[in-house]
Amino acid sequence: MARNLEPSCRQCRREGLKLYLKGDRCYSDKCSFNRRPVAPGQHGTSRRKLSEYGIQLREKQKVRRIYGILEKQFKNYFEMADKMKGITGENLLQLLERRLDNVVYRLGFASSRAQARQLVRHGHITVNGRKVNIPSYITNVGEVIGVRERSASEVEHFKALKEGTGRTVVPWLSVDYEKLEGTITALPSREDIDIEIQEHLIVELYSR
Ligand code: SF4
Repeated sequence: MARNLEPSCRQCRREGLKLYLKGDRCYSDKCSFNRRPVAPGQHGTSRRKLSEYGIQLREKQKVRRIYGILEKQFKNYFEMADKMKGITGENLLQLLERRLDNVVYRLGFASSRAQARQLVRHGHITVNGRKVNIPSYITNVGEVIGVRERSASEVEHFKALKEGTGRTVVPWLSVDYEKLEGTITALPSREDIDIEIQEHLIVELYSR
């Protein structure tokens, strides 16, 4: 399966903001963006004025990198969002938030979306009691996201989670760490999505 091999911290430096791609490390002194917040490469420190297209492109790249999605799949999400009722940009973010790997991350079962994706791919995660190993699976209201029984009792990562994470869970999810289960209680609204993104720029980019 194709994936983005560009080093995570380099991606933050390219976009000029912390994308939180590495879990706990992002919140520590080891975060390389804190130490060197300039674009990678020889001309990283020089300031370039971006064109309108450049601004739109950077906004799209930011979202793509935050959710760890490749270009083609991202375009598919945009087309799906465009066909849905409502505001295309918000629909797009909502679809990305509803991905199973993102929900696993939002529930606090993983410290980053990359780790969440791996947990899903390795077959540790269930939806309504059935194993689902597709990170892009789009979750729905009422679905219960859980951890496979064997994984919950044998994998250290999950055993530690039962103590709780101390993380605040987003308003559209509820979680029971003892049972290692979370429920989608509503679809995420724009206010629930805490990333600093101007999604209308992405819509403008694809409408060119
Ligand atoms: Fe970005 Fe810092 Fe996390 Fe690296 S450690 S991915 S620079 S936020």
